[in-house]
Amino acid sequence: MSRKCSLAILAWAVAVLPACATARWPYLHELEGTQKFMARQAQGDSVQVTYLGAAGYVIRRGEDAIMFAPSFTNPGIWALLTRPIQTDGRKVDACMKKAGVQAGDVSWLMVGHSHYDHLMDVPYVWQSYTPRARILGSQTTRHILASFKEIPEDHVRPIEESEVAKDGQMGKWIPDKKESPSVRVLAIKSDHAAHVLGIHLISRGKYTEARKEQPRSGLSDWKEGETYAYLVDFLNPDGSIDFRIHFQDAASSAEWGRLPEEVKREYPRVDLSIACTGGYEQARGYPETILSQTRPRHVILGHWEHFLGNDCAVDEQELLITLGRGGLRKFTHQVMSTVQDAEMILPMPLATMYIPNP
Ligand SMILES: [Zn+2]
Repeated sequence: MSRKCSLAILAWAVAVLPACATARWPYLHELEGTQKFMARQAQGDSVQVTYLGAAGYVIRRGEDAIMFAPSFTNPGIWALLTRPIQTDGRKVDACMKKAGVQAGDVSWLMVGHSHYDHLMDVPYVWQSYTPRARILGSQTTRHILASFKEIPEDHVRPIEESEVAKDGQMGKWIPDKKESPSVRVLAIKSDHAAHVLGIHLISRGKYTEARKEQPRSGLSDWKEGETYAYLVDFLNPDGSIDFRIHFQDAASSAEWGRLPEEVKREYPRVDLSIACTGGYEQARGYPETILSQTRPRHVILGHWEHFLGNDCAVDEQELLITLGRGGLRKFTHQVMSTVQDAEMILPMPLATMYIPNP
């Protein structure tokens, strides 16, 4: 790594860590509503959401389950700067056990972009917990996963350019199965905000052919690739929409992620929006622009823990918050002033919530 690059990252750590030093997770409990959803038990056909930390979730509606790619390994700054990084299976197992979530029937394991904090744990998670799932992601995600021989090619479903909704133009729904699909997914072209001071510290590049060796450097090998937001519809047997989710694993500026008119016409309000808290201050108009289009009934704020060195497996820990108390408060205020009638939830990692299904 170049000296310039190392210094930039140090600057990042220095800028962010002091804010974290005073930001402890009990502040989350100040948010009205969060406890209610975390304590709520399954009612009727409510949708069960388990937050796995970072941008990872398992979401279950009846017999259908999907997963958004979790990241448990979470190396600290020095590991990231000084050595190759790889998945920590013991940590993944400890977190999954603590979450107590069943994932063996997950049909889609979805990846929004290919940075290490979204893709590095996926091969281990897939093999150990979701072996029936197909991994849905970008062409770059596919090319990185090609170096993990434990994942058969037919379990990776790369998104084609022609399937992507962009600039408000419709793409193509991707169904979970050809006959009577119960889940369908639409990829929407999105973007990834800078990490600090307008600088992207982890590679923004793409892969156009299969990697032969597994990535080593967290900063340069786990390239971002194409970044997508996802609309996920859980469907009724007659094909109508039962529950719609909008998901992002990166904050994006206002010009990205526009919803096609026809999806809004078909179903005017998203039931659940999963927003990415980290990096929002580096994006213009986030999350207001997206939320004013999706008009969600519920908003979950994810990816709020610090990107470096957290460990969900440790009891009684004090999780570090990326934004500090002030930043988190500002973000929650922006959410609530955009969608006044939505319920907002800021979950603890590994918490399970039940979202009412209208
Ligand atoms: Zn990223």
